[in-house]
Amino acid sequence: MSIIGAETFKWEDADKRNNIMFRMPRNIRFNDNIVVREDEIAVFFRDGKVLAYIDRPDRYALTSINAPIVGPIVKFLSGVQQQAEVIYLQKRVFDGKFGSKQPYPFRDKEFGLVNLRAFGEFRYKISSPANFVNQFIGTLNFATSAEVEERIREQVVVLVYDVLGDMKNQGLGVADIASNLTTIEQVILSRSKDHFDLYGVLIDKISGLYISLPEEVQKAVDTRSSMQVLGANYIQYQTGQAMRDAAQNPSGGAAGAGVGVGAGIGMGWTMLDSMRQSQQVPPAAPPQAAIRCPKCGTQNLATNKFCAECGSPLTSTQTSKCPNCGADVPPRSKFCPSCGVNISSMKKCGNCGAEVPATSKFCPECGKPL
Ligand SMILES: [Zn+2]
Ligand SMILES: [Zn+2]
Ligand SMILES: [Zn+2]
Repeated sequence: MSIIGAETFKWEDADKRNNIMFRMPRNIRFNDNIVVREDEIAVFFRDGKVLAYIDRPDRYALTSINAPIVGPIVKFLSGVQQQAEVIYLQKRVFDGKFGSKQPYPFRDKEFGLVNLRAFGEFRYKISSPANFVNQFIGTLNFATSAEVEERIREQVVVLVYDVLGDMKNQGLGVADIASNLTTIEQVILSRSKDHFDLYGVLIDKISGLYISLPEEVQKAVDTRSSMQVLGANYIQYQTGQAMRDAAQNPSGGAAGAGVGVGAGIGMGWTMLDSMRQSQQVPPAAPPQAAIRCPKCGTQNLATNKFCAECGSPLTSTQTSKCPNCGADVPPRSKFCPSCGVNISSMKKCGNCGAEVPATSKFCPECGKPL
């Protein structure tokens, strides 16, 4: 049955493509038809508010005959106000990329103020059609998917910076970032749930996170980590490096003066070598929990990744519980993969035994000073 003047609404493929939403240019009225396909939701919207939505695929005539499904919509289209807007939404997941426009100033204990930039990818979909439409169309009056995605992207960057800031307060330094990217991704993902609820958006994946450091800081971090492998620390390495540079410059430099170039180089390296040897017996090493090698039984330092005796990997299968949120934490992780709290910085309250962050001055459980 077709009624004169009635129109059929559908989301044309030409408008669809990679658009998460489409706002119909015409208003819908009583007796119009609306086509909803498998991967779509049709939202009826009026006066800045969602009236109802249909997410079952079919062709619906907006007449009283179809009351079970379109009844509430038909009701909205009768009486004084007889029109509503139709907004189509896609159900599928979308991929987006984020990247910071402004650098994030990160105050690092070793390197001072470091400008970070973060890049990565996220996957998202609409989790609540009503929130999505209210937020993007009702509040912000967005009409295109590009505007929506831009907004989500900006919010993801805000979230990345929030997480980095909190983890920094938990003891994360720029030199730890590279080895904690997966944890950082997970913390961003778990925090995104609450953050994007209001937007009617669910972020279901954060991947490819890359945090770039200024070139000179990156160099220093790289140098330092390669020196840690050798057992020498960064300052000692620099001393050795400076002596070698001086030696290679015969016209000046203390090490080069009076001695041959070869001797100078030798001296630099001998010095570095003796420093390295003196490093091997740290004078007052903090006591560390030992890890027993599962293969040969040797007790190893908790920081060892491989057995000092037989070389077997020391991967303890024991996960621990995060004292902050209770999530399972993989062995020897510094940060909780769920909430980002610094596990190694928790301490026990002497009065009630509660686990509290090492930076707390008072126990949040019993209030006693720590
Ligand atoms: Zn062993
Ligand atoms: Zn946690
Ligand atoms: Zn306490």
